[in-house]
Amino acid sequence: MRSTSAAYDGPDMKGTGIFFDGLTSARRAVTVDLRTEAIVVRDVAEGDQFARWPYDELDQLAAPEGVLRIARSGIKQLARLEVRDPALAAAIGAASIPVDRSRATEHRGRLKIVAWTCAAAVSLVLAAVFAVPLLAEHVVPLIPLRVERALGEAVNVQVRTMLDTKNDGGAFTCGASESETAGAAALDRLVHKLEAAAGLPIPLTAVAVRRSESNAITLPGGHIYVFEGLIDNAETADELAGVIAHEIGHVAHRDGTRSLLQSAGLSFLFGMMLGDFVGGGAVVIGARTLLQSSYSRDVEAAADRYGVALMGKVGGDQRALGTMLTRIGGTDHPGMRVLLDHPDTEARVAAINAAATSTSSTPLLEASEWAALKRICAGR
Ligand SMILES: [Zn+2]
Repeated sequence: MRSTSAAYDGPDMKGTGIFFDGLTSARRAVTVDLRTEAIVVRDVAEGDQFARWPYDELDQLAAPEGVLRIARSGIKQLARLEVRDPALAAAIGAASIPVDRSRATEHRGRLKIVAWTCAAAVSLVLAAVFAVPLLAEHVVPLIPLRVERALGEAVNVQVRTMLDTKNDGGAFTCGASESETAGAAALDRLVHKLEAAAGLPIPLTAVAVRRSESNAITLPGGHIYVFEGLIDNAETADELAGVIAHEIGHVAHRDGTRSLLQSAGLSFLFGMMLGDFVGGGAVVIGARTLLQSSYSRDVEAAADRYGVALMGKVGGDQRALGTMLTRIGGTDHPGMRVLLDHPDTEARVAAINAAATSTSSTPLLEASEWAALKRICAGR
């Protein structure tokens, strides 16, 4: 027969907490051991037992959010224990719910709220870690394009601010000054050729920006940033087009949106429900994710295949993307997501060449247009 009505019957569970003996002001780091009938609190370093509190004698005290603060009921001294680990707190809460209905009525439910609160916290954490990525996979196809565009606009403002480290403002974008407009027209022509063949459900906005990395970034809602360094490194219009075609693959596959949902998932889901993305921390998290994390190999490979097929549709050089990857592969861009610089560049190039079906191609821009495009950021 059990001497207490509340018990812990889960697997061995230990954690840490902070113990106050109620006599001195010392904060003691302790181990918290969930035994069958009581919590045992010991000094982390010395192992001295400070308390042994039966589950049905626990009182929950007021505490800040995220902290379970408990004391033993009915004793005069004010010893208390604080636990911040949600799993441990949930286990304590659950153990303190009486199982014997004939006794301890006054304790019944005392810690029930704690148990539920902690269980909710634990499930939120679990959801964020495990369910959101899965959810994102299934939710993305259901997101209306209008919502994706709103998301893209919100993140776009943030990403631009983060990319524009020299605070150039308007001048951060290439193509506006008098000597650059011909280049901007050439870039537009190149992008529109690809866009027309891609048949995307949303319009693209591709701009060149003054960043020295050989890189390009695609945001949700069809925003593509082509870096000056990429244009500098491209030797032909088709090489640049190959990269842009790869980026269009990310747009078509909605990779940016999925990535955002995975990183800032819950906040974005709430934002979506409320119809407001702007001003939220989720936007900052999302923008940072887009700049710093990279897509999986599979996602990149899918964008490569899309790019190769798209280059075929416009009659361009399907292998140009591979040529470009080989040239810029191995360069290092710390702190910046590098869409193109992947450790297995060779494997990617081989796959690109294997997917290429056409052997002949015509340059996507006239020589004069390409010359102008190479100078799209040269106006200052
Ligand atoms: Zn990519």
